[in-house]
Amino acid sequence: MMKDMRPESLMMSHGYDPKLSEGAIKCPIFQTSTFVFNTAEEGKAFFELAYGLREKEEGEQMGLIYSRLNNPDLQILEERLCLWDGAEECAVFESGMSAISTAILCFCKPGDLLVYSNPVYGGTDHFINHVMTKFGVHVMGIDPTDSLEELKAAIGAHPAANKLSMIHIETPANPTNKLICIKDMRALADHFKQEDRSVVLSVDNTYLGPVYQHPLKHGADLVLYSATKYIGGHSDVIAGACMGRADLMMEVKTMRTFLGNMAGPWTGWLLMRSLETLQVRMERQAKNAKHVAEALAKHPAIERVGYLGFLTEADGKQFEIFNSQCDSAGAMISIYVKGGEKEAFAMLNKMKLVKLAVSLGSTESLAQHPATMTHADVDPETKKKFNISPNLVRLSVGVEHYEDLIADLTQALD
Ligand SMILES: *Cc1c(COP(=O)(O)O)cnc(C)c1O
Repeated sequence: MMKDMRPESLMMSHGYDPKLSEGAIKCPIFQTSTFVFNTAEEGKAFFELAYGLREKEEGEQMGLIYSRLNNPDLQILEERLCLWDGAEECAVFESGMSAISTAILCFCKPGDLLVYSNPVYGGTDHFINHVMTKFGVHVMGIDPTDSLEELKAAIGAHPAANKLSMIHIETPANPTNKLICIKDMRALADHFKQEDRSVVLSVDNTYLGPVYQHPLKHGADLVLYSATKYIGGHSDVIAGACMGRADLMMEVKTMRTFLGNMAGPWTGWLLMRSLETLQVRMERQAKNAKHVAEALAKHPAIERVGYLGFLTEADGKQFEIFNSQCDSAGAMISIYVKGGEKEAFAMLNKMKLVKLAVSLGSTESLAQHPATMTHADVDPETKKKFNISPNLVRLSVGVEHYEDLIADLTQALD
């Protein structure tokens, strides 16, 4: 019965049994590195399962061993995160970058081809172009506004096309809010699959998820998060998550065990606390963003506002994708001011309530300058091609009263 309830109804209790913790209504922080086995036989059995040396017996549960492998704060958190995306398994990490890098390392080996959408988060872009290439992985950035046929031809022309092992996309894209059709990317991945290998499709869902977009339902294999953003939501913790089918997640979790980049119990506890208010925060933020975007669009110092809620039929495919894939326009706004860096900086320097800081999805509104901050390291041609221009300010709308936000942004623009 509990399974049929909505995720927001289950975030306070799912997966936690108070009887196991002296009746405490909330899951305690299991600040422990290791767990005592009742018998040596039990320890042996747990390790057999942890290392996949044998299959689970009927009704057998994986026991607690050591906090690099598992910990109650992480396990309960992972079960709760699965509910939002309808995932079979989840792994939580100490940062979004560790979730992304671990997933990529898991499915790409030397000689393979890794395809990614442009633009992606600056850190992801760096990891793909400057770290994976060092390990002999071929990488190729695509323009996701190209048609499926154009993309098939472009990837097909790459010398390592028959070794395509992973497609990593980000939709909506950070910082431009451009949308990518996940179903098309599934078709693209399947087009290049070989008899003995499939192509893993991963989606960074940080911008709209886990409430407003569910990539697994549209054909993605893995969904990735910077849980630092909406999931954490209070600018007080760095964390990440990766979710998907059990067989793939088994590989990701094994890689996590040996890289040792799992989140600690305190991070797990903080994220469980955050998940209780995830839905109300995101609803409020999305409502605020609509008011703020509408007000900004009318300001004379603004050239253009990139906000998913402004898409109309005239936007063609972008509008179609929005309707088929997104449950809300979310709370991220790309503001193109009139002028260049000087004008963008003037706005950022004059804000009072909205804070000038990178990151997003938090209770407080944040604004930053992608071209010189989060995406400073992206190569200049790519920046130019995908509109990460000097006059772009990225705004993440928080839970304040929208009239106060509008007043602050208006005085900064004036
Ligand atoms: C912030 C962010 C990341 C990186 O996450 P960290 O938690 O900072 O490591 C990855 N992808 C997107 C879209 C992000 O916004």
